[in-house]
Amino acid sequence: MSTISMLVDGKHIQASGGATFERRNPLDGSVATTAPAATAADAVAAVDAAARAFPAWSATGPSERRALLMKAAHALEAKADAFALAVAAETGGSALWAGFNVHLAAGMLLEAAALTTQISGEVIPSDVPGSLAMALRQPAGVVLGMAPWNAPIILGVRAVAVPLACGNTVVMKGSELCPATHGLIVEALQDAGLPPGVVNFVTNAPSDAPLVVEAMIAHPAVRRVNFTGSTRVGKIIASMCAKYLKPVVLELGGKAPLVILDDADIDAAVNAAAFGAFANSGQICMSTERIIVDSKIADEFVTRLATKANGLPLGDPRKGPVVLGSVVDMTTVERCNALIDDALAKGAKLVCGGKADSTLMPATLLDHVTPEMHIFSQESFGPVKPIVRVNGLEAAIACANDSEYGLSAAVFGRDVGRAMNVAGRIQSGICHVNGPTVHDEAQMPFGGVKASGYGRFGGKAGIHEFTELRWITVQTTPRHYPF
Ligand code: NAD
Repeated sequence: MSTISMLVDGKHIQASGGATFERRNPLDGSVATTAPAATAADAVAAVDAAARAFPAWSATGPSERRALLMKAAHALEAKADAFALAVAAETGGSALWAGFNVHLAAGMLLEAAALTTQISGEVIPSDVPGSLAMALRQPAGVVLGMAPWNAPIILGVRAVAVPLACGNTVVMKGSELCPATHGLIVEALQDAGLPPGVVNFVTNAPSDAPLVVEAMIAHPAVRRVNFTGSTRVGKIIASMCAKYLKPVVLELGGKAPLVILDDADIDAAVNAAAFGAFANSGQICMSTERIIVDSKIADEFVTRLATKANGLPLGDPRKGPVVLGSVVDMTTVERCNALIDDALAKGAKLVCGGKADSTLMPATLLDHVTPEMHIFSQESFGPVKPIVRVNGLEAAIACANDSEYGLSAAVFGRDVGRAMNVAGRIQSGICHVNGPTVHDEAQMPFGGVKASGYGRFGGKAGIHEFTELRWITVQTTPRHYPF
């Protein structure tokens, strides 16, 4: 069990009044972490600290910021074992998942380090004689980042890495479900030697989230907000940001379609489907949430996928290597069980797995799923995934677009031109041809459309989100005035 602190102005602190909350292990209910339950005033103090640190940090040169972010990447990697323990204890994730998280998150810090010298502007021709007109990108101010529990290291780092690279100071609000995992990220940034106040860390009890979050969004020093989480809460955050006119990046839920055309390489599609559907027990925003397969090859595909899914090791991640660890809570189990009941009652066929009575949930596939079944449209966010059979390319595209979400997608087909045309017609921020729906790289523009949110993390797209684009002119000759 670990007891953690918040970080404000470089100091480890508890909540004023000493209130705490507990995160319990999803499998055995033991206390995994005790964390400070911040008040709104504590959260405001964290933003104040970030605001005080902003003038000096925003004035640092790119090489200085780059060196610190590179050190942070290595400090993060050095904590790989501690991350694996924290992930297993707080959210039940496997060591495989924790290791991948550390690897990609370190890559995100290195990419952010590289971006420090890529924050460029332009000179724009002016109609005013002698006017040198420039568009310059400047640090925006304090950035509030809010990250979820499911890919905790990747998404926690993503919330702050590019904002810091751009010269902003940050407040990271940890997830109530993995405060110690998020705290380790902040420790790594501190180990790297970031000056006090540049990174601040706030944790809150679940019931205090609305107050704590609004106090920070309302703070005049907060100039950008980013939130990764559900569409339900994303809409609340969007409303708060509208109320205070704060630009926000929203990375929300998904219902990623994996479209398998009639000419697909079936083995390749099976591997992508199994990985996309069951990595981290299906609890990834890009998880394959709808397997849409052409009826011509559906029987063969489903048989091979079932064999693969049945062979995936499941167990307590604290006891040895597994692919499917524990899901995050019993709510996930109840939600997935209800989706199975509903689909079976409406005519779906259970291919493998089935209902669970603990957070150790098997890889489960439902075949012959139709739009009337809840699992067709609702995010399972667990290892229970639907297979929808369609006839032909147009039906596959229509099915893929029959969703409120639009984050990731994938298309399998040997005729790459045809598959590419299908990809072009799918309404999503991300689409992979002959690759899985779960694919993230630090330098890529990551984000969704429709109910999956707006804005982009990653690479140069991130620079656009977390800098202020300013128009600056210098009059180099005497200027003519009409009076
Ligand atoms: P969630 O929406 O429940 O997020 C919880 C967060 O919202 C916490 O930080 C909590 O403090 C805050 N919160 C809750 N109620 C609030 C309120 N009324 N006002 C202000 N803040 C409030 O999401 P989760 O369960 O942590 O994450 C799972 C979801 O995240 C899934 O839907 C998944 O698809 C999505 N997700 C999206 C991406 C992406 O990049 N698009 C990545 C990972 C996860």
